[in-house]
Amino acid sequence: MADQVPLCALCSRQIAGEANADKVKLVEKPHECCLCFGILNPDFIQQVSEEANRLFASQQYDSNTFILALSLPVSQTLRETLILKQYPEFNGILHTVPFKIRNVNTYIEKLGDVSNIRPTLASDLQLLIAFENDEFNESDLAFCRRHFPNEVRPPRKRKFHHQNGDSEQEPIEMSRCQLQQINNRITKDIAEKYSFVSPSRPCTYKLSLERDAIYIAGRYMKFSRTLPQSPWTVDEDKNAQPEPGNSVSEKIKNVLEKELGASESRFNTSGREDIDVRMLGEGRPFCVEMRDCKRTKQLRGIEYIETLQKLEDEMNRTMKDVKVRELTRVKREEAEKMAVGADEKRKWYSAHCYSTLPLTDEAICKALQAIPVQLVQKTPIRVLKRRSLLDRPRTIYSMDILRQDSNHFLLRLETQAGTYVKEFVHGDFGRTRPSLANLLGVENGEAN
Ligand SMILES: [Zn+2]
Repeated sequence: MADQVPLCALCSRQIAGEANADKVKLVEKPHECCLCFGILNPDFIQQVSEEANRLFASQQYDSNTFILALSLPVSQTLRETLILKQYPEFNGILHTVPFKIRNVNTYIEKLGDVSNIRPTLASDLQLLIAFENDEFNESDLAFCRRHFPNEVRPPRKRKFHHQNGDSEQEPIEMSRCQLQQINNRITKDIAEKYSFVSPSRPCTYKLSLERDAIYIAGRYMKFSRTLPQSPWTVDEDKNAQPEPGNSVSEKIKNVLEKELGASESRFNTSGREDIDVRMLGEGRPFCVEMRDCKRTKQLRGIEYIETLQKLEDEMNRTMKDVKVRELTRVKREEAEKMAVGADEKRKWYSAHCYSTLPLTDEAICKALQAIPVQLVQKTPIRVLKRRSLLDRPRTIYSMDILRQDSNHFLLRLETQAGTYVKEFVHGDFGRTRPSLANLLGVENGEAN
């Protein structure tokens, strides 16, 4: 007969059941429970809940609710299956309830008492409590590999090298994915070979709060030729570094971040060419992903329209040369469609250019007005030996020119993937039409 299982009073009642008391050894310290590792102990729950409350208070989200997510040690998930296989007679009041739900319910009750914000089933704010105990990782992995050698493969032997020359083995842990594969194939015979050892110490835990991202879309029109869409990234030239906030994306992001208290944000322009070219007169579509916002109340209910109008006005007031319109909150799926399209089909280039003829403001203005433009590119002379001779239509979506002196300028392009950029700049002996040299009215340009 198997040894007695070390369980806490709670697990003994809820899982083993009173009729099986002889198979249970009640533990002295809560963390010695081989099933819950002390996570269900009321004092431990109180301690975690108070820390959660302090976290809520320090982060100041304008939310009355949150959803609770728990991450449990992998070893616990494995034992949840093993114990009922090894002791099929266990019939405690909660023996059929998944361990995670048993945990979540207990914690939700306590968190609701202790904190001012309410745990619910649907909220955009998530509290994650990650419980950790790694002392059985190695033995559990060995156990599973012994019985499921095909499903649970040995971890890659990789070594960490430290600065002092020592190296140590990578921490070994079975992945949840591997565990899921074998979980319903564990038989009574296999389970009986597992010994339920008590943890030697309580679980550690980490708390974190995160709010779902918010997506704000709109359109912008740019009237300045010196304001790039996003910051310049030409490192060689210090003069070309952007002033902080000196780009459309940064200016729009700043206004939104300040209003919503976002921890960070990402700016994307639409990759949908059809909309883009046709609607250019109405502005270029963009979308900003605002992450982990502290304040979102003003985007709900009747305040929504007022807030977006206020933000739009503020953007237009602070940016003299840009006009923003049609600010709207969009769903994540819509925002993702925009971002994916942009990555697939477009490329950004920066180039340091030199023109043998001096450039005038007028010439630059005229060239910029021609954008977006569709080019016809014949296979460039420099790659002619490797590629077949073809006429390819390619689009330049946007262009910024930053003049340094009469003959030198920085060029920034957003092009359709596959555009030969060098050839666009100098024209490749007329094989790319129009070229930047054509647009600027200088046929003797040279790009470096
Ligand atoms: Zn327990």
